[in-house]
Amino acid sequence: MKPDLFEAPDYYNIDDLLTEEHKLIREAARAWVKRDVSPIIEEAAQNAEFPKSIIPGLAEIGAFGPYIPEQYGGAGLDQISYGLIMQEIERGDSGVRSTASVQSSLVMYPIWKYGTEAQRNKYLPKLAAGEWMGSFGLTEPDHGSNPAGMVTNFKDKGDHYLLNGAKLWISNSPFCDVAVVWAKNEEGRIHGLIVERGMEGFSTPETHNKWSLRASATGELIFQDVKVPKENLLPNKSGLGAPLGCLDSARYGIAWGAIGAAMDCYDTALRYSKERIQFGKPIGAFQLQQKKLAEMITEITKAQLLALRLGQLKNEDKATSAQISMAKRNNVDMALKIAREARQMLGGMGITGEYPIMRHMMNLESVITYEGTHDIHLLITGLDVTGFNAFK
Ligand SMILES: Cc1cc2nc3c(=O)[nH]c(=O)nc-3n(C[C@H](O)[C@H](O)[C@H](O)COP(=O)(O)OP(=O)(O)OC[C@H]3O[C@@H](n4cnc5c(N)ncnc54)[C@H](O)[C@@H]3O)c2cc1C
Repeated sequence: MKPDLFEAPDYYNIDDLLTEEHKLIREAARAWVKRDVSPIIEEAAQNAEFPKSIIPGLAEIGAFGPYIPEQYGGAGLDQISYGLIMQEIERGDSGVRSTASVQSSLVMYPIWKYGTEAQRNKYLPKLAAGEWMGSFGLTEPDHGSNPAGMVTNFKDKGDHYLLNGAKLWISNSPFCDVAVVWAKNEEGRIHGLIVERGMEGFSTPETHNKWSLRASATGELIFQDVKVPKENLLPNKSGLGAPLGCLDSARYGIAWGAIGAAMDCYDTALRYSKERIQFGKPIGAFQLQQKKLAEMITEITKAQLLALRLGQLKNEDKATSAQISMAKRNNVDMALKIAREARQMLGGMGITGEYPIMRHMMNLESVITYEGTHDIHLLITGLDVTGFNAFK
């Protein structure tokens, strides 16, 4: 892969709206991605391996629990800092950002928000340090967009719960130390349980042959009569709203992360358009190529403004789930379209691993599907503005 020459676009001087702390945090993440992610990520993706060597670096830049209070090992940052960190990591690779999103918003967040003080003290510092890695089990083989239909269940056996079922498409599953698993109790109510590697009957087979998010490990979580200690139940929230609360936090991070992938594609295509000569001039001098670049920077700028405003609302605890859906849907779609256009601008070179574009493009096919598909988020906006539920 070519050296990482990334220069971030800021067409509307959005930096002026950030604090010095925001910029320092972003620069630290950006420098780390350039130094530790860019040189290894292409090979990791080609080999379909999650590069575990970057776990300590992710912890160091605050990617594990950016907004979790410092008393639990988190970075204690605001929501805009969290977004900027996700943007920079996904500028490197959506798979690496997925690992950070799962750890922060889908594992640490529910333990912090719905867990006991003992659970917070036991798990959060180790997860923040990257000493333990987590996964989040909601999706099942027969229940993806409709998680309320889940069949994974647990029964009260007096001194423990007995957990049975299976989860599919679980990021980090093959190497996770702990899993936050959503399952129904005997009354059919959804609860979160913390399952630890080593519990008898718990296995995590890897899903192979992915063309997308190849540098992120994906797999199953299988529970066959797993005895889960009672103290591992998250007691402070139940029902579908509990996992959906985690998804709100992760989707918010994705809305920022997708901007990073889009920026990398735009920046690569812009540089290439100035260097590649055809018909005696740089391809960037042709109107058709300029149209692509002009539309890319316009869409990136709009996405930046959307994410920043959403971050302000999140900081004030005012962002609604529907607002988060809109930003996730818009920004991922924007990034995927930019990746496809940028790939064409590089001609044949665009399909090689010399440049990051094709990897971003394939990664974004997962990002547009997970954490609520593109169409599901549209239905959420439709429901929000009309009051009519078009899901069923
Ligand atoms: C790489 C990867 C990593 C993932 N990581 C995790 C993870 O860590 N944890 C986790 O729990 N899950 C994870 N997922 C699962 C992901 O969230 C689901 O794939 C997603 O929610 C869609 O579910 P599904 O694949 O079963 O598709 P389905 O729900 O079967 O949907 C198929 C199609 O039907 C459409 N559709 C469904 N219902 C409706 C409707 N009512 N109206 C109109 N259209 C509809 C969908 O939009 C989609 O286009 C991951 C997925 C991938 C690909």
